[in-house]
Amino acid sequence: MKTKFNAYGKTLYEFTNNIYVVCPKCKNQAIVTSKGFLKEKDETEIKLTCSSCGMNTYYAETPKDIWTLQHSEVTYETRNLILGANIDPYFRLPLWLQKEMPDGLLWAYNYEHLDFLEKHIHAKLRYRDLTNNHNRSLGARLPKWMTSRKNRTEVLNGIEKLKQK
Ligand SMILES: [Zn+2]
Repeated sequence: MKTKFNAYGKTLYEFTNNIYVVCPKCKNQAIVTSKGFLKEKDETEIKLTCSSCGMNTYYAETPKDIWTLQHSEVTYETRNLILGANIDPYFRLPLWLQKEMPDGLLWAYNYEHLDFLEKHIHAKLRYRDLTNNHNRSLGARLPKWMTSRKNRTEVLNGIEKLKQK
């Protein structure tokens, strides 16, 4: 494996097209699929499917969040997408790939994301592309415990276990 790895070239958005989740019906692995960039996604194209029990739901069919304006009766219907947590941004189902670690929770949207984390943590040299806005990148946003030298072996072992899930 290469020891030099550009961990700052990707954002979490790039892993949102296929998200593995726990099926709300049968608790097996289900998948949330969508296309395109998070904010531009068409609700009718965001879908939850489970090959174990046959569950098949579109995001467009799920209830919207209701916002009530303070001191009034005006309400708005809105969509709050939750990005960067151990649930998928749309259906808010628990991620399939997650594991409790001594210092925090290890989670990934899919196996490609897991692979990215592994390469990032494995890399002894992480170069930053300062020409891009690297603070938004995944590498810059990982929790400290995950990238700290003392946890490296433990975190890599955790990733390895999740890869076999
Ligand atoms: Zn199912």
